[in-house]
Amino acid sequence: SSSKTSSTILPPATLGMLGGGQLGRFFVAAAHEMGYKVWVLDPDPHSPAGLIADRHLVAAYEDYAALDELGGSCAAVTTEFENVPAGTLDYLSKFIPVHPAASAVAVCQNRIAEKSFLADNGLPHGPFAVIRSEDDVRDADAGLFPAVLKVARFGYDGKGQARVASHDEAIAAFQHFKGEPCVLEKMLTLDCEVSVVLARDEAGTVRCFAAGENRHRNGILDVTIAPAQTSAELRDEARQIAERIAEKLGYVGTLGVEFFVCGGELFVNEMAPRPHNSGHHTIDACDASQYEQQVRALCGLPLATPRQHSAAVMVNLLGELWYADGKGHGAYHEPDWAVLHAVSGLRLHLYGKHHARPGRKMGHFVVTGEDADEVLQRALQARAAIG
Ligand code: ADP
Ligand code: MG
Repeated sequence: SSSKTSSTILPPATLGMLGGGQLGRFFVAAAHEMGYKVWVLDPDPHSPAGLIADRHLVAAYEDYAALDELGGSCAAVTTEFENVPAGTLDYLSKFIPVHPAASAVAVCQNRIAEKSFLADNGLPHGPFAVIRSEDDVRDADAGLFPAVLKVARFGYDGKGQARVASHDEAIAAFQHFKGEPCVLEKMLTLDCEVSVVLARDEAGTVRCFAAGENRHRNGILDVTIAPAQTSAELRDEARQIAERIAEKLGYVGTLGVEFFVCGGELFVNEMAPRPHNSGHHTIDACDASQYEQQVRALCGLPLATPRQHSAAVMVNLLGELWYADGKGHGAYHEPDWAVLHAVSGLRLHLYGKHHARPGRKMGHFVVTGEDADEVLQRALQARAAIG
């Protein structure tokens, strides 16, 4: 079976997007600015990208009638969601170019495949064991504990993870995950976390954004500081590792690579075969965003060489902000957005999700400026002011 290869796709062609979340919504916005139409496939009738798409196919990812419609109307298709079934990408690739390819997405959507890929290619990663049975837990090296047990598939924002101090706790967690295949990772003591977002085209040209520094709260990305306030050497080393990953995957599109920094050394945590939450600031602080790069890679246009013109800090806005106690309880109300709009150099992005739940990503803001420390102060003050 041969997949369809690309020639340059120009406006007013229609592009396809699998997944309707906020990352898809920003892709739709970027594609629209460039003159393309976009069809979105997502089963949620209220999906943020579906709301602004030229057409929203409200269908499951394995609805082949919907895939036929998408394949028949779009010049190429991409994704914003790593859990699109690889079979869906394979099926569409018989009709139209699909970037990234099913084979690359398959590696990134399964933690066992992902860790094996890193190990096979000599890429730095933390100690881990593959867990498919309780015996695998019993056989795991005691040196892995304290550890994190993570389901191999469908985890996100810290979901499908359990911190475990011993073999017994790991067995209990494995049972709680219903015996789903897992990886057991040594819990690392982190100096910080960084990520690199890059784009790669079919000819193998790679363009990277500067590594950003990510701070998490409750397993969910909270703040990204871009560029990361680490040494330039460390940012450069992260870039080189991310480039090697993109090459080894034969990746075409926008890719996010998350790293742990541990004792001054980089370890790859995970890859996202799509734009990344830590790359939102590229809309506000760079000449070309990660979403524009995704359009360019998909359409066979030359990738931009994106210059970051301002220091930037991104703050995620989670659903708990909508509740009186700021934690998800009490009266439901719309936050006072005027408070944020009053902050100089702040841009607010809301995703149009129709109901806020605690932990749900509802929007974000980006503060830009010349001085990185001052930008961080302004961003943290803005966050404190909104709740
Ligand atoms: P997700 O798919 O939810 O992003 P991650 O594997 O990236 O899953 O885990 C989320 C966060 O949990 C990480 O960014 C990090 O802060 C923390 N974490 C995960 N694994 C480890 C580990 N092995 N050691 C230390 N912290 C970890
Ligand atoms: Mg992660």
